[in-house]
Amino acid sequence: MKTATGTTIISHGQLIDGTGAAAVRDGVVAARDGRIEYAGPAAGAPRVEPDAKRIDARGGTIMPGLVEAHFHPTYFDVANLEDLDIKYPVEYVTLLAGTNAALALECGYTAARSGGSLFNIDFWLKKAIEEDLLPGPRMAASGREICGVGGLMDWNPDFRKLGMEGLVLLINGPDEGRRAVRKLVKDGVEWVKTYPTGDAAAPDTNDHHTLCMTFEEMHAVVAEAHNHKLKVTGHCRANEGIKNALRAGYDTLEHGTFMDAEALDLLLARNTPVVPALQFEYASIVHGPEFNMPQKVIDGHQETLDAGAESARMILQAGGRLGMGGDYGFAWNPHGTYAKELTFFVRHVGFSPLETIRAATQTGAEIMGRQAEFGTLERGKLADVLVVDGDVLADISVLEDRGRLIAVLQGGIVKAGRLARSEAARS
Ligand SMILES: [Zn+2]
Repeated sequence: MKTATGTTIISHGQLIDGTGAAAVRDGVVAARDGRIEYAGPAAGAPRVEPDAKRIDARGGTIMPGLVEAHFHPTYFDVANLEDLDIKYPVEYVTLLAGTNAALALECGYTAARSGGSLFNIDFWLKKAIEEDLLPGPRMAASGREICGVGGLMDWNPDFRKLGMEGLVLLINGPDEGRRAVRKLVKDGVEWVKTYPTGDAAAPDTNDHHTLCMTFEEMHAVVAEAHNHKLKVTGHCRANEGIKNALRAGYDTLEHGTFMDAEALDLLLARNTPVVPALQFEYASIVHGPEFNMPQKVIDGHQETLDAGAESARMILQAGGRLGMGGDYGFAWNPHGTYAKELTFFVRHVGFSPLETIRAATQTGAEIMGRQAEFGTLERGKLADVLVVDGDVLADISVLEDRGRLIAVLQGGIVKAGRLARSEAARS
């Protein structure tokens, strides 16, 4: 991805650096050739040449670009489990994924980790974004997911003779787990996404307390993935699935819903980040009835939400790491509403805005293994910056409103926000 040339000065706003430190009331970010040269109080800002590009935060907020830590670029208007599989030809799904990536950047998300994709679309999407062919977040790809036969993602009875080759690699036993990882290695992904447990969405045979992979399968997946320098994550709701994942050496957990004290100890000993993805559960409960969601599914989402919020609080209080993101692309939780996750954590889970922003920036970059490049506003890092018209500490939901974004910068280049629109109108 190209970076800017020359100097850019962003000023007249409170500066939140993403580390969890208190905001600097009158802050400045100075970037040269796409990298941050200074981020701190205006009083200490370096003198710059008169022709430097200037961005005025208008008394609002200057903060790091957001990281969506559980991004499904190929989800689109998903209304039931079957919609997760290919419901359009792969050509059209690829175009939809490109649209979703552009939308994420418009929403202030300058980086995103895929939580699984149809076919290998996220890998190629990442390449197109890196080569500046399409606008979008800096990405990490996962490609197809791995699940045990008969598990959450294997819902087609055999008589239908439907493969799931675009969605998931179905395995029986550790050897097939290794085989699936070897295929993903050749696809070029960085993350292996697995399904250790079920979900409230499948209450009859794979609910949120059901295991969908054995420890032996998970351990084989991790050994093979780590051998090839890939990382492993998994959809972990049931308590035993969380412990299996931690003992098997998972690099992150998705959801981490039903934690107990023993799971928390295992987690803290490994410092494994968790991406709870709670807004999806909340939206499912609120909007489920409009979509004819069965009551037992809604009840399952409520149980998941309550336990997931409690687990997130436990992890935060114990000093563990959390990322923000989650399963946008459902009909009731659409792409473009990613920042609702942050609002939910402040209003319903009890996180402070600074804790929530740190999770959505610094920890997101750590999850992607790219904390040396972005995630905080610190000297030497890429100038991936959000300039917001409003005080996000007073009202975090300002981030949900694209109209309040003055500028979204990647590598010092204004890619989205009001400033990008007015620059486009002038040229
Ligand atoms: Zn997901």
